Amino acid sequence: MPLLPESLPETIFKDDGTRLDGRKFNELRDLHIEVGVLKNADGSALVCHGKNRIIAGAYGPREVHPRHLAKSDTGILQISYRMATFSVGERKSPVPGRREKEISMVVGKAIEPVLFLEQYPNTTIDVFITVLTADGGTRCASVTAAACAIADMGIPMKDLVAGVAVGKIANRIILDVSDKEDKWEKGGATDMPVAVMVNQKQYSLLQLDGSITVEQFEEMLDLVFEGGKLVYEKQKEALRRKYSTEDVGR
Ligand code: UDP
Repeated sequence: MPLLPESLPETIFKDDGTRLDGRKFNELRDLHIEVGVLKNADGSALVCHGKNRIIAGAYGPREVHPRHLAKSDTGILQISYRMATFSVGERKSPVPGRREKEISMVVGKAIEPVLFLEQYPNTTIDVFITVLTADGGTRCASVTAAACAIADMGIPMKDLVAGVAVGKIANRIILDVSDKEDKWEKGGATDMPVAVMVNQKQYSLLQLDGSITVEQFEEMLDLVFEGGKLVYEKQKEALRRKYSTEDVGR
């Protein structure tokens, strides 16, 4: 077990142009999704994206607590994103910090457009997300996990929502930035986490940390949409796998 943080490599691209982990600029890290992993939740998903391990449990639509949050004309979506104390190199405080509150809000905003919340007045859909291991891009993988957990509940949705980031490192645009890549550039890499509604051909989240030109922005949008499609295929596969093997009528 190393006592010192892992040192960063001198270059981030190999001589043949591939990335440190062997990926091409437009390749996702390994992505595996399982749904229905929590017996006691109405819907659930486990997302293994690179070394990220993220689990989401969804409940509802159910009564709102505290009741004053209930809305008589629509349902609400409440997301709780938390990082386990052991999920990062340096122990994370178990007390929810500002970052966790921000990501909870952001994931909620990314998912809301695909739900028919107006059909469930006075109720809430609650999604609890726990990051077990963080490897960069946890907010995107959390969007992926939350969308799958809600779909696993079996409520109607307009679309799935796929989370994926695109970045610019050493002036090159790459899909699905890993933690090591994100930390490599001194002063911080340009990172753009995005949530894609593939069938609607729309984005429900787009954050940008860093500076890019308009041309680079357009290139990044195209690349991240293609990445979203790959994530979406894995989401569909996971849902199909569960529902095509489950005993119907039990
Ligand atoms: N991180 C950490 N401690 C924290 C929060 C984040 O070490 O309390 C690290 C962790 O490796 C995570 C990375 O920072 O994967 C990136 O965090 P960021 O805020 O960029 O969000 P993310 O990319 O995970 O969506």
